[in-house]
Amino acid sequence: MKEKIRVRFAPSPTGPLHIGGIRTALFNYLFAKKHGGDFILRIEDTDQNRYVEGAEQYIIDALEWCGIPYNEGPGREGKFGPYRQSERKHLYLKYAEELITKGKAYYAFDTSDTLEQHRKEHETKGKTFIYNWHNRLKLDNSLSISPNELKKRLDSGEDHVIRFLTPPDETLKLEDSIRGAIEIDTNTLDDKVLFKSDGMPTYHLANIVDDHLMEISHVIRGEEWLPSLALHKQLYDAFEWGAPIFAHLPLILKPTGNGKLSKRDGEKGGFPIFPLQWNASVGYREAGYFPEAVVNFLALLGWNPGTEEEILSLDALSDAFTIDRVNKSGARFDPDKTVWYNHQYLQKKTDAILATQFMPLLGEHIDLELESAQTDYVQNVVSLIKERANFVTDFWELSHYFFTAPTTYDEKAIRKQWKEGSAEIMNQLVSFLETITNFSSENLEVSIKEWIAKKELSFGKVMPPLRLVIVGDMKGPHLFDIMGQIGKEECLGRIKTAITSLG
Ligand code: GLU
Repeated sequence: MKEKIRVRFAPSPTGPLHIGGIRTALFNYLFAKKHGGDFILRIEDTDQNRYVEGAEQYIIDALEWCGIPYNEGPGREGKFGPYRQSERKHLYLKYAEELITKGKAYYAFDTSDTLEQHRKEHETKGKTFIYNWHNRLKLDNSLSISPNELKKRLDSGEDHVIRFLTPPDETLKLEDSIRGAIEIDTNTLDDKVLFKSDGMPTYHLANIVDDHLMEISHVIRGEEWLPSLALHKQLYDAFEWGAPIFAHLPLILKPTGNGKLSKRDGEKGGFPIFPLQWNASVGYREAGYFPEAVVNFLALLGWNPGTEEEILSLDALSDAFTIDRVNKSGARFDPDKTVWYNHQYLQKKTDAILATQFMPLLGEHIDLELESAQTDYVQNVVSLIKERANFVTDFWELSHYFFTAPTTYDEKAIRKQWKEGSAEIMNQLVSFLETITNFSSENLEVSIKEWIAKKELSFGKVMPPLRLVIVGDMKGPHLFDIMGQIGKEECLGRIKTAITSLG
């Protein structure tokens, strides 16, 4: 094993990162942090056809927002840079050629049309075309032509690729830290292209060369790369390089548990699939999630700390993180649980922070004065309603009556709570409230309860209609808290208005 722990997240900028990608980055980050190692971001952009404008910046912004920054990568050059494969393209050819010299790779001239034809012919026979030991000598490559012809064709600049020469009749013994030992018969493998005719390496070659040059100790990546492990291991052996330790993370599954979580599942189920907004798709950030909540629920998708604990900060996660607690089987994604996580993190925030986040949303509904009295007021309101909220964006719906008097009253509540005599009781209550000078929640509670007793009224005759006229419906926290907050004048005003309109 390499001395220093160095891990990398190596996305291809072919679109926005799905939360599965963020989870891969997170596990790498946690592992590096736990061992005092380095977490590297490497942009694998060798496939020019699939390059998507803005995708790289999106990846960087998403890691930043999640609070899992990389130590080395684009914009944070370390001694192993550059960290974008397109800027390293001059490096790879010599490695492909080294393999040819060692007899581990060969030149192939088959045009894409010819290969396509082979593929089609096989398909009509219900077979799959693979380029390997069984047919390579019948195809157009340096193994099937004479050295002279090879030289001529290379000198003339004829288009060609470089393929890996998979040795036949071997049993490869692979090791994955999550899945254990895996054996592969090399006869089932194809001779993968390592270097393309456009002068660029393929993913496989660039990935191995860079992991080697960047001294990567552990490769932690998604399960979809497990089929590439056989080739990667053979490449390390062919170069006579020590291979890193591999760990392939389980898939994140649809909420139903059947199949891989996709963008469509998010659209259908009304939950984000991306960390940040991408075109029309709202991200976790825009949906009002706290990054700590996102990181926490992602960490528990396919991993557990070995305890019942569910709420874990980034520090706690990295302290607890070990690869051997990563599951082999897929992790079912539960959108309700993500909301639960956000709720938990919201409760942990101070009222001051929540009020600051609420202010701009509040400003969409009422005129905000930038006075500290109002800030205090908003903080008090937040403290009263936050336990009912999952998101800061829920706050207005839960608290509007602290800021504006009701203009309508809930029909059902009127039918149930506004009885014969309610108007009269409210009238008497107005007279009584006018005499109260200390309008704190505590004093209101004591005074109103005494008043109800003295008047020989029941609680049920006074409190429900009172809530209806103050709030507009039967919702909300403790009524005396609401009244204490909005104050005497406002309470009296609301009761009087309601008496007139409800009669
Ligand atoms: N570029 C690959 C990807 O898009 C990297 C796979 C790996 O980590 O080896 O995920």
